[in-house]
Amino acid sequence: MSKPQPSSLKISELNWINRFAQLGDAFSTRLTATAVPNPQWMAFSSNLSHEMGLQDDWMHEPGVLDALSGNAVFKGSEPLASVYSGHQFGHWAGQLGDGRALCLGEVLTRVGPLEIQLKGAGPTPYSRRADGRAVLRSTVREFLCSEAMAGLGIPTTRALCMVSSPLPVYREELESAAVLTRVAPSFVRFGHFEHFASVQNKAALKTLAQFVLDLSQENLMKHTNLSALDGLSFEEKCLAFLELTAINYAKLMSQWQGVGFCHGVMNTDNMSILGLTIDYGPFQFMDAFDPQHICNHSDHEGRYRYAQQPQIAYWNLFCLGQAFASLIEDTDKIVKALSLFKTHLPLEIERVYQSKLGLLELSSAQQDKPDSSLAEGILQVLAQERVDYSIFWRKLSVAVGHYPLLARAAFDGVNELFLDARGFQLWLDGYLDRLKSENVEASAQRMLKSNPKFVLRNHLCEIAIQAAKAGDNSEIERLMKVLSSPFDEHPGFESFADHPPHWAQSLSISCSS
Ligand code: AMP
Ligand code: MG
Repeated sequence: MSKPQPSSLKISELNWINRFAQLGDAFSTRLTATAVPNPQWMAFSSNLSHEMGLQDDWMHEPGVLDALSGNAVFKGSEPLASVYSGHQFGHWAGQLGDGRALCLGEVLTRVGPLEIQLKGAGPTPYSRRADGRAVLRSTVREFLCSEAMAGLGIPTTRALCMVSSPLPVYREELESAAVLTRVAPSFVRFGHFEHFASVQNKAALKTLAQFVLDLSQENLMKHTNLSALDGLSFEEKCLAFLELTAINYAKLMSQWQGVGFCHGVMNTDNMSILGLTIDYGPFQFMDAFDPQHICNHSDHEGRYRYAQQPQIAYWNLFCLGQAFASLIEDTDKIVKALSLFKTHLPLEIERVYQSKLGLLELSSAQQDKPDSSLAEGILQVLAQERVDYSIFWRKLSVAVGHYPLLARAAFDGVNELFLDARGFQLWLDGYLDRLKSENVEASAQRMLKSNPKFVLRNHLCEIAIQAAKAGDNSEIERLMKVLSSPFDEHPGFESFADHPPHWAQSLSISCSS
């Protein structure tokens, strides 16, 4: 455990520990960022600043803008780009690495050591002929979504701030650059392990495994019910870690599915070893519910479509398991550890939908039909009618709150969401029947805390991006306000909770960023 840190830190007082740098030269290349012209602050996450214990005005300290745009180096930081490999769209892609992310090192904060990265800070040895930059458009998306996911209570890497620069960047058209400061306990990916397995560097693999075991020590103790891990062999610790990772992913996938989040590029190099949502690219919070929805226009086969995300997570876990095979002799044990994903996923999914439906856990002996069939039933109706996913759940929550007073009429507003409401009405019979065994007021409260009023829809991103391109960052700020507490009502911000406008259908989001 690190010693407690003061709660009002200046950025210049941050204590850099550079843990990843200490792993050795095999893991990374030391380098500094490439400067950008005329950097300007665009946006900050005050929530993350508070969590990290930074002073409110940390951004006004001299030199901070330069350091977080890559034009200067913080005293004590040892910047580096790390090497990893990965499977992309189901195929081995070989060596990738931080092509445009620079790890500045780790700092000690009151919530523990946190790695700080600059994304879009210039080319690295892993850029593979690309420019090492991130455009303003994709940086706004990653900034907002990182903090939106945190607001939803979903594990994620975080975003502290973003900086714009007039530096021209070419994608399908001419755009301009931005630099994102992102933060996480670690940005290690499945692909880091795959890399050292592929080059058969067992010593590095072991070092990396020990690094993540150390990071996960507390969670591993909880998982194994042990007060210390000393009694376990290295192999046993690795197996416990794979179990924990499998369970983390079962939880993460159920949370993604619950809010209708599509990641878009679940390549193994985009899978956080800590089970965080990472690398926001062509993501989307679904509008109309369609289990087969593909949010990434570069995903021609629909490999990463909404309904398939959990299966892909399992596939990716097997890539991780394979990478661990030189550290764990008995591969059956690896398969068994990872299979916890399969046993936990249905339980986690059920838990998520029970909350969304406002149901408390009843044993199946107490029920004619399990709650999972209620959830499956409504998802089928929503898919058939292509009803807006987030609006449905929020309206249902509000309706349950009015039910004690208005009886069935409370659901008229939900009914209106369906062109043909017969399927919904039929489902409602069963749901109201099940609600009889609940305290309905408590159910409504639970639902309002489980079904967000606000999610970061594509068109909301787009409006904020267009405004930011024209030099107006106020839309980003307004979105941050609602998305950091998306279960609150936020009167005056209703338009952010509305159906997408017609033009949103023609938005095409690809890997280009
Ligand atoms: P992604 O699909 O964004 O997860 O990126 C896959 C790989 O390509 C990673 O190794 C990235 O670092 C790299 N990459 C993506 N865009 C760029 C860029 N503009 N410059 C350098 N490397 C990039
Ligand atoms: Mg990536």
